[in-house]
Amino acid sequence: MSATDIRSGGCLCGAVRFTATLPGANFGACHCPMCRRWTGSALLGMSVPTDQIDWTGDAHIATRQTSGWAMRAWCRECGSGLYFRVTAPGPYAHLTELPIGLLDDASGLQMTNEIYIDQKPDSFAYAGAGRNVMTRADCIAKFAVLGSEGEG
Ligand SMILES: [Zn+2]
Ligand SMILES: [Zn+2]
Repeated sequence: MSATDIRSGGCLCGAVRFTATLPGANFGACHCPMCRRWTGSALLGMSVPTDQIDWTGDAHIATRQTSGWAMRAWCRECGSGLYFRVTAPGPYAHLTELPIGLLDDASGLQMTNEIYIDQKPDSFAYAGAGRNVMTRADCIAKFAVLGSEGEG
């Protein structure tokens, strides 16, 4: 991984595109009920500094405040989920959770976190070991700083 891993990506229909400078190779999976519904499975996302993502097609981006502390965005043309972002002030305010499935080339990345593991449907599991795993209770404790009492 070089210090400047710049990757392109976009939505299903191509109306929204971006170029992002990835901060590293690590990404996480979130199994919370909101991410499950939003993605139809789990959110596989990388925390990227918001100012390191250059979007094109902004007019096609729809957003919704999905909790008191976070928002989600999608392409209003094709429905692809584009990002999850904490809107509350604090340690996560400068980050955007970018689904790695949007990348044109998602190779070479590593799933290092898996959260809301106790909310995961029992019908599937990701391969590999050694990930940092957190339960819903762990997450609520960690993200209490955001005023969170649950999913965002
Ligand atoms: Zn689209
Ligand atoms: Zn989630």
